[in-house]
Amino acid sequence: MNYYIETYGCQMNVADSELIISILNDAGHIQSQDIDVADVLLFNTCSVRDHAEQRVLGRISNERHRKKSKPELKIVLLGCMAQRIGQRLISEDLGIDYAVGVDQYRALPRLLDEDRGSELGFDSSENYERMLPVHQGEHCAFVTIMRGCNNYCSYCIVPYVRGRERSRPYEDILQDVKGAVKRKMMDVTLLGQNVNSYHWNELSFPALLSKLQEDVPELYRLRFVTSHPKDLSDDLVQVMGQGGKLCEHIHLPMQSGSNESLKRMNRSYSYEQYLNRVRALRAAVPNIAITTDLIAGFPGETEEHFEATLSAMREIEFDYAFCFKYSEREGTAAAKYPDQLPEEIRLSRLQRMIELQREITLRIYRAQIGKEIEVYVEDFSKKSKSQVSGKTRDFKIAVLDGDESQIGTLAKAKVIDATAGTLICE
Ligand code: SF4
Repeated sequence: MNYYIETYGCQMNVADSELIISILNDAGHIQSQDIDVADVLLFNTCSVRDHAEQRVLGRISNERHRKKSKPELKIVLLGCMAQRIGQRLISEDLGIDYAVGVDQYRALPRLLDEDRGSELGFDSSENYERMLPVHQGEHCAFVTIMRGCNNYCSYCIVPYVRGRERSRPYEDILQDVKGAVKRKMMDVTLLGQNVNSYHWNELSFPALLSKLQEDVPELYRLRFVTSHPKDLSDDLVQVMGQGGKLCEHIHLPMQSGSNESLKRMNRSYSYEQYLNRVRALRAAVPNIAITTDLIAGFPGETEEHFEATLSAMREIEFDYAFCFKYSEREGTAAAKYPDQLPEEIRLSRLQRMIELQREITLRIYRAQIGKEIEVYVEDFSKKSKSQVSGKTRDFKIAVLDGDESQIGTLAKAKVIDATAGTLICE
């Protein structure tokens, strides 16, 4: 069969789609970029926010008309939504034929070949051992090192849909990274909901980072995401301080600067402990860029709590912050908190947060003007074919004059200007 796959949500889903492509290709199915010729439409979905779920449902509703002219066409829901509410959506007659959750992808070929949706197995310890994804990117690879999460932050649906933590065997990670490097992908990101909990036999996460650098000497840039601040060990700080292939960037979700909100979020750290980790990282890697996730309008957040977050943002000066307004997810602890905030307050706080971060980011980016940096050129810039764009080691987007021949190469560039999101270089 020809199949067409669309991916929503985080990098874990991007990596899962690459795994699904590998499973289907091995079974003799053919990936198509053209939805018109596909016999199967696969939607790999995200449940983190209600908006993400509504977007996919809208998309499926737009495509189901294809079944009129092609009755044998199958629409398959994959990923977190399939795990969470897949069977309900099938019964609602939205055009979805099958729902295949995050631990059931091995069964996909059998499902398509034999049309046996109701007999899918389920193994909550599924780790997809000895399976190598087909990386779809040309320059950057995302390599899963663990699945699931044990943390149960009170706002988060992930542990309910992705299950308990499971680490991927080192040998599989090694083969995956070697394969990416062989394809000349110079930027490799290790993925997990909480990479700091990685554990395979005696191998901890900091040891994994060191071992990969030794075992794959051709590896050029190595990153990881996401780190839970409570598990960010001194060993990890030390390994980051050794530099090497590890990039000078960490994404460290703070979520709130208020200890009361952090407690109700079940984040298991205080603001002071978070700040301690930031200081340790900056002492070990003086030019490290720190990015974060922040939630505005969490249940029970007072103006004072929110001000504590703004004050933390001013104190730490994140290079960038992904700011979100709180979105209730059915089944999570926070959705049951009685003190949910009105939408207008969530939105206005989100706006204030974004504005403050824009000022901080602009200041940090403008401080780069005049510096020489290394840009890994990945594509044309969004605005012009006479410019190319790429990432710096510290995870900033840079654009510079250039042409197709530079894509996939490293450019030495000088920063001549900056916006709150892009370094303009020559
Ligand atoms: S660490 Fe918290 S926010 Fe991250 S996936 Fe786990 S439960 Fe969700």
